[in-house]
Amino acid sequence: MSKAEKLKEIRDEIISFEGSSLAIKRRKNGTLPVIGEGSDNAQIMFIGEAPGKNESLTGRPFCGTAGKILDSLLESINIERKSVYITNIVKDRPPANRDPLPDDIDAYAPFLDRQIEIIQPEVIVTLGRFSSHYILAKFGLKESIKPISIIRGQVFKADGIKILPIFHPASAIYDKKKMQLLLEDFRRIKKI
Ligand code: URA
Repeated sequence: MSKAEKLKEIRDEIISFEGSSLAIKRRKNGTLPVIGEGSDNAQIMFIGEAPGKNESLTGRPFCGTAGKILDSLLESINIERKSVYITNIVKDRPPANRDPLPDDIDAYAPFLDRQIEIIQPEVIVTLGRFSSHYILAKFGLKESIKPISIIRGQVFKADGIKILPIFHPASAIYDKKKMQLLLEDFRRIKKI
């Protein structure tokens, strides 16, 4: 099976998924799951938290305000959005954009694990604390799990993959200092 076929299989499974209250709610209200988009051969994979309103209406990750910030950060290092892969740990929108609960993460993480296995990125950039903590734990780096303000910008290595936790782009909406730190961390992506 090709990468595209394997990713399509995940898409189909998520569309008919009933293993999470978020998925059941989505299937009732007619909004969309957000599976991920970008290159199947991406060297860099970005992992966010969960879809927001715009994302659940379009089925595309990071297409609202946080997405505009992510786009500008990619542009700042001349990396095309279509050359990377962008997804979230949780594939359906939590009500009123609440933080993902441990149950939400447990329900959807197996899909993310398979996406990583298929795409085999060289670099995983985790956006915010939820995906950062999940990925560090998944790659056996539990001792490195600390507040995102401490671990952001540090490169961790495991299984031949570089992991770079950074602030969530949404955190820069009202905070210019965070934007500066994000710009700094994106320059690090370019270097590695
Ligand atoms: N925030 C996220 O974490 N993911 C999205 O797709 C949009 C906003």
